Amino acid sequence: MADGDEEEVARPTVNIYDGPQPYNFEPVRRMRGNEEIPRADGRQRQINAWSEENEWRVGEVSWCLCGRCRPMETVVESLCCREVSAFWSLVEELNPRPADVTCLTQHPGFEACCLNPFVLKIAYTHFRQDHGPLFLLIPRQYRYTAYRQAIRWAYGVLGRSIRKPLPSCGFNHQTVIPEW
Ligand SMILES: [Zn+2]
Ligand SMILES: [Zn+2]
Repeated sequence: MADGDEEEVARPTVNIYDGPQPYNFEPVRRMRGNEEIPRADGRQRQINAWSEENEWRVGEVSWCLCGRCRPMETVVESLCCREVSAFWSLVEELNPRPADVTCLTQHPGFEACCLNPFVLKIAYTHFRQDHGPLFLLIPRQYRYTAYRQAIRWAYGVLGRSIRKPLPSCGFNHQTVIPEW
């Protein structure tokens, strides 16, 4: 989709993905449409204010509601899947809703969409066709692809230059993607 706006993700070259970036940090579920999320200055101010207020989260997990988050090094990573409606609604929409799923990473789609190496390989092939290859070591290619899959799964759209944070529990899962 070379000329499509929503797929126009800035092609990363170096430091492609070093963890969630604080752009547009706001745990609000987007409608699944073509709507681009505006990056207003006001929103950036909100993000900064939130980050300041929540600095205490860094390095601890008392904010975790799912039981699977770990202490993170930055405040924007210090988020639980249950706090981010875009992610948690994926669990809530399961029908029938399994009572034992208490974390996004236990959702049957999580492994299938975001960790399964065969799925990631296809997703990366798709990305490469649209955007060209990533000049990264293979594990980082896949990690970035996993990140994109998780964001698309939750938000539906990958906006231009927009980086959404993953919840800590999902982020931690990414770090254990096997070294292919
Ligand atoms: Zn959690
Ligand atoms: Zn979780």
